[in-house]
Amino acid sequence: MMIIMNVEATESQVDSVVVRIKDNGFKPIVLHGDERIVIAVVGNDPFNTREQYMYLPGVDRVMPISRPYKVASREFIPANSTFSAGGVVIGGNEVVIMAGPCSVESRTQLLETAQAIKEAGGQILRGGAYKPRTSPYSFQGLGEEGLEILAEARELTGLPVITEVTRHDLVPLVSKYSDLLQVGARNMQNFALLSAVGDSHRPVLLKRGLSATIEELLMAAEYILSQGNRSVIVCERGIRTYETSTRNTTDINAIPVLKSLTHLPVFLDPSHSTGHWQYVTPVARAGIAAGADGLIVEVHLDPEKALSDGAQSLKPERFAQMVRQVRSIALDVDRC
Ligand code: PEP
Ligand code: MN
Repeated sequence: MMIIMNVEATESQVDSVVVRIKDNGFKPIVLHGDERIVIAVVGNDPFNTREQYMYLPGVDRVMPISRPYKVASREFIPANSTFSAGGVVIGGNEVVIMAGPCSVESRTQLLETAQAIKEAGGQILRGGAYKPRTSPYSFQGLGEEGLEILAEARELTGLPVITEVTRHDLVPLVSKYSDLLQVGARNMQNFALLSAVGDSHRPVLLKRGLSATIEELLMAAEYILSQGNRSVIVCERGIRTYETSTRNTTDINAIPVLKSLTHLPVFLDPSHSTGHWQYVTPVARAGIAAGADGLIVEVHLDPEKALSDGAQSLKPERFAQMVRQVRSIALDVDRC
């Protein structure tokens, strides 16, 4: 539920409400709005304790949050959330493009790719150092060496970096090097990992699970938010369907649906959504037209030789063309 404070509520009145919530065994989340303070009470059926707060000094009214996810819902926070990730504003008017190879393969590969991405207008560099591969015999990533290379690419280009963290015990190490943490589709319901990234101070890009519903994605986001980390991006990356022409099926509907249900920034990954480079740019254009706040796209200098996901990787010149087209569509939907 939400406890909506009076416009003139004092700090000590807010503190008393917070103490009462904690005494009742629930978790208060205090939101400082432009006009007034709203406190979310998170826990199992907190609405039963509603009467206790209604008449506390400074309280205007108490309202239920109808969705199972609370902090993630637009009922709790009506305005779009924006935050900075390594100096880049996420969730604002400007569409943000993250791009880079599926995996960091070598220093020269990443530094050269990073330069090309920057020149093409990409704002954040992606690259996997810990790779969650379907086969244990596939390339598993360079680990910490890959993180060091990403940090060097940031130094060189000024682009903030994002990389996937696959285990909860790796969160401190990955956070040391990376500006954003990516939680992959296979780990969307790895609750130990969600809690650990929720405890970190890095923005998180949370990918939709392979067969996850939109509600399950938002419940996973809620795990991170309820730990206190408010900088979460939810990312559509294609779901499993009976269709085999593409690696996954882009749920383009998810973009406007997510935008209506949550204040969190919504991204699209057109690379894993389609699995084929030829479809990446058209689907990226569709995502921005549908209202996505940004994209995460795989780019490789020589896709035929890529150690992972070459088939869905754009060459730098094709990526540059995608950026131009996407930015032009962004203008049509009053973005930039
Ligand atoms: C990736 O970004 O390379 C990746 C593994 O993505 P996903 O978790 O969406 O499969
Ligand atoms: Mn990949």
